[in-house]
Amino acid sequence: MKIAIAKEIEVGERRVAVIPDTVARLVKQGLEVLVEAGAGERAYFPDADYEAAGARIVQDATQLWGEADILLKVGPPQERENGQLEVNLLREGAVLISFLNPLGTPEVIQHLAERKVTAFSMEMIPRTSRAQSMDALSSQAGVAGYKATLIAAAALPKFFPMLTTAAGTIAPAKVFVMGAGVAGLQAIATARRLGAVVEAFDIRPAVKEEVQSLGAKFVEVKLEEDTVAAGGYAKEVSEAAKQRSREVVTEHVRQSDVVITTAQVPGKKAPLLVTEEMVNQMKPGSVIVDLAADQGGNCACTEPGKDVVHHGVTIIGTINLPASMPIHASQMYAKNLLTLVQYLVKDGALQLNFDDDIVNSACVVHAGEIRNQRVREALGVPSPQPSAL
Ligand code: NAD
Repeated sequence: MKIAIAKEIEVGERRVAVIPDTVARLVKQGLEVLVEAGAGERAYFPDADYEAAGARIVQDATQLWGEADILLKVGPPQERENGQLEVNLLREGAVLISFLNPLGTPEVIQHLAERKVTAFSMEMIPRTSRAQSMDALSSQAGVAGYKATLIAAAALPKFFPMLTTAAGTIAPAKVFVMGAGVAGLQAIATARRLGAVVEAFDIRPAVKEEVQSLGAKFVEVKLEEDTVAAGGYAKEVSEAAKQRSREVVTEHVRQSDVVITTAQVPGKKAPLLVTEEMVNQMKPGSVIVDLAADQGGNCACTEPGKDVVHHGVTIIGTINLPASMPIHASQMYAKNLLTLVQYLVKDGALQLNFDDDIVNSACVVHAGEIRNQRVREALGVPSPQPSAL
């Protein structure tokens, strides 16, 4: 069985799906590994290291995609510079495993189904203990949360820690993290390590203890409605609940030097947590880092991919932060993929058991059929079977 590692062509994407150490493990398992020339270059993994680990370097992308039994990637397939669609390069029956943004760009999923490819979406790996080591959303969110705090610290015209110096005492920076999921918790931990005083808020009350265990204060908003959906994710709450949350958090935003927002609701536009009026009340020199920028942003002033200054407050609309730390982001993603491949491939053959929750949830396309109910709904495709989600 041939496992192929494609080079990412998305602008700014520096990660690679598999690192040389992972290649060695796949080869040891009896799998043939093909790596597109230069695939790991931007993550500082040269072709020579892949070769030394037992991979065959393939110069031509068309050949690599065409030979793959299982193709591993970071981002969804795209149109290449020569106008070729990467999806069309895959053989019928081949398996594609990558982030596929199935709810954001369902048309890619439809195309994969038309091509009769089997596709696994890394976003759809269930967030369960059993699937933890395959959970790429978490591994990459951890990278993003860490980097968001460093970006904020670098942009803030102040120290993070308290300092007692001969030139006087410096008060520590106040950091407010909104959304305490995987990225938010890592942002809190990083800000604490840098010595800031940290507060955090989330609509899921269950995170209170995790926030406190990191040495941060939890800002509680009592909401009457249920805020937790299946899988422990946040639900999209009512406008009244959003308004109530904003009333409570306004004062905390106003007093903060740094606000890091990470709130997302799967498949929906990110909730608006920081209004323009709230930004206007912040101290000049304060910094907001919006990790939800490419999902519409948690801050009204966010512009995706840009740093904007509004009333003296710098709002940083980060996009794809994991790509800015490609060595460790790739290493962690490669580990997630390795576990999944080892789970799916037994004795050199693909074993698809759709009664298994990991396979059932992550496999979004098989044998020409879109298996995910929400993707089908987004495309207006009728359901041939009960929900796969
Ligand atoms: P996410 O990226 O979807 O969202 C980030 C955070 O924003 C979440 O904590 C969410 O509650 C919060 N949020 C959403 N709307 C909000 C609003 N209006 N105001 C304030 N906060 C809001 O979340 P994630 O980090 O991917 O984690 C989601 C869930 O998955 C959590 O329950 C997490 O514990 C769970 N999880 C479980 C495992 C596991 O069991 N292996 C692994 C990872 C995550």
